[in-house]
Amino acid sequence: MPLFQKAVFHTTVANLRDLPADSQREVAFAGRSNAGKSSAINTLANHTRLAFVSKTPGRTQHLNYFTLGEGKYFVDLPGYGFAKAPEEIRSQWEGLLAPYLRFRPPLVGLVLIMDSRHPLTELDLQMLDWFAQTGKPIHILLSKADKLTRQEQALALREVQEALARISDNCSLQLFSSLKKTGVAEAEAVLGGWLGLEPKAEALPPVGLRTEKAARPKNRKAIGWSARTAKAGEKPAEK
Ligand code: GDP
Repeated sequence: MPLFQKAVFHTTVANLRDLPADSQREVAFAGRSNAGKSSAINTLANHTRLAFVSKTPGRTQHLNYFTLGEGKYFVDLPGYGFAKAPEEIRSQWEGLLAPYLRFRPPLVGLVLIMDSRHPLTELDLQMLDWFAQTGKPIHILLSKADKLTRQEQALALREVQEALARISDNCSLQLFSSLKKTGVAEAEAVLGGWLGLEPKAEALPPVGLRTEKAARPKNRKAIGWSARTAKAGEKPAEK
């Protein structure tokens, strides 16, 4: 089962005082409008329309919280880059986004989505520079990777990697495609680690099962489990 499959819309926050009080850990998603942020959240949650809640009237300029259970959240930040009045941009940034990103204790890291064909726009660089100062990690998804050839993908990875090395040493990156569902396991590993969510137990090899099975051969349930594990290519731990 995908790690974030339990994600459901929780709330929209327009004021800092309304941030969920029960949050233990949360990961924020940022990116230019149209970079593929909603699609990436939907893909990670294995849900076709989850993050499109954030695109409904009245919610586009706010923080949209998706609960993953157990006090863990994804937070969808407003997409940036669309022409807005300077006054509107400033008040949103100073009143909500900047203090949220800088001072929110449960925020454990930022996922920045950049279109792999046009990464590192001026606003992306501003966001990276600014968030890097918090000391918290940044993970970059180079989205829509299906639109690039393998060679272009390798080039995009290398170019962005080089630029990141100049900005922060707490930054990782990967290719991602919501269309082809590629890069999902890699993203799950990083975000699951940040959130303290481990891959589900049933996906792991049952420790010591071989010994137990030998001792109690009539335990059909255990045998079935073992067969499924073997099919998935997992090798039970040796004693
Ligand atoms: P957002 O504004 O950052 O939330 O971007 P959306 O997730 O709404 O995506 C913007 C556009 O890019 C939509 O037309 C999506 O269908 C398209 N898109 C998103 N992800 C992918 C992808 O992985 N591959 C391709 N080919 N198109 C994508």
